[in-house]
Amino acid sequence: QTRTAHLQAIDAAHHIHPFCDPKSLAERGTRVITKADGCYVEDSDGNRILDGMAGLWCVNVGYGRQELVDVAARQMEELPFYNSFFQSSTPSQIALAERLSKITPGDLNHFFFANSGSEANDTVIRMARHYWHLKGKPEKYKFIGRHLGYHGSTLAATSLGGMKHMHDMGSSTLPGFEHIMEPHWFAHGGNLSPEQFALRAAQALEDKILEIGADNIAAFIGEPIQGAGGVISPPPGYWPEIERICRKHDILFVSDEVICGFGRLGEWFGCQYYGVQPDIMPMAKGMSSGYLPISAVAFSDRIFETLNEGGPISHGYTYSGHPVSCAVAHANIDIIEREGLVERVRNDIGPYLQSGLAHLYERHSIIGEVRGAQALAGLQLVRSRDTREPFAAEDNAAMICRDICLEKGLIMRAVGQAMVICPPLTITHAEIDEMIDKADAGLREAASRLGL
Ligand code: PLP
Repeated sequence: QTRTAHLQAIDAAHHIHPFCDPKSLAERGTRVITKADGCYVEDSDGNRILDGMAGLWCVNVGYGRQELVDVAARQMEELPFYNSFFQSSTPSQIALAERLSKITPGDLNHFFFANSGSEANDTVIRMARHYWHLKGKPEKYKFIGRHLGYHGSTLAATSLGGMKHMHDMGSSTLPGFEHIMEPHWFAHGGNLSPEQFALRAAQALEDKILEIGADNIAAFIGEPIQGAGGVISPPPGYWPEIERICRKHDILFVSDEVICGFGRLGEWFGCQYYGVQPDIMPMAKGMSSGYLPISAVAFSDRIFETLNEGGPISHGYTYSGHPVSCAVAHANIDIIEREGLVERVRNDIGPYLQSGLAHLYERHSIIGEVRGAQALAGLQLVRSRDTREPFAAEDNAAMICRDICLEKGLIMRAVGQAMVICPPLTITHAEIDEMIDKADAGLREAASRLGL
């Protein structure tokens, strides 16, 4: 038995995988990833694969950063753990909170630390409700999210998100969460121009507010670009209109920056790309480039002051502000800044990637639409571009395309009927060329296998 087969057998016997098809796992086994460097991962059979997904939308500075290893080792030697509950802090927590305050927009100056995007969003829910309670408006507790929004997998984050397949899992949702249409022009735009559709999609928020009453609503939450929903980027005009509606009805505006933060859209945060200013901003993933788990929630001055008036915040995780994760996140932000990765995305690799994808669009009618912005992209696969006819679910079009690309040495993710791309921000032109070439060959083969 090969090492791979041995590991796969143990994995199949004992390891439960999130979001994987058990039948496919049983038939083909798991792919065992053993090491990584730069933009490439390597599997247990020695195949080098270009990672077009930055791990899971997170390895913004690429793999193999010895500097982050050294920082983690030093922090572990000095102080591997201390909590933030006992009116106590560690230097790395303090430094990270200050560092974040320098890159977050506006007055988002106060940070609560957690370990994952899901925990960050649970924190958002509890704190926003607490805020309104302290303001004397306890009935303002509902949240409005969007269909195909993804905010995590805890019970509350699942409820906040708009993923039907997650809600359906034993009715695992809580009351108090409402969802509006996602701003998906290709799916819902009909004959409207993108700009007209942007206003219509934003109007769905006001309609929902009027339906359930602003007095009952704590906040609206959205990802600047919906990642796990298939990289759904709203047409121009959508976000400013959403912000205006939130302000008009006195509803907190939450921008979930778990994917879009830390340079992905050529700004430190996705809300800056769209020119809007949230009241609360959860972040994770690119915050440490995935080297260690850490997340944070940024709060505005106004919210922080109100929360403080309420006395102790009865909310926290053992590993809130884990000193090693904080030290690594801080060093990771240093790398992003030192290497100018935010500007690099904006001026160089973002446009370069998007022009490569435009080239794919010209060559492949199986691509109905290229979505996203800068270093985040989605290719909507369709049976017919002209009529926007989708593939049937049982065609498994995106999964077929993903598997073919993987065979060719490129990781892309299949989400619904879209192929998703989110590479490390350090990716070179040559690596983007390789990605486009492999996707080109993969799309051609997939189209032929799907009878086009
Ligand atoms: N929010 C967004 C926008 C995400 O994309 C994700 C994860 O993909 C999460 C929250 C949840 O983060 P985590 O998986 O770290 O809990």
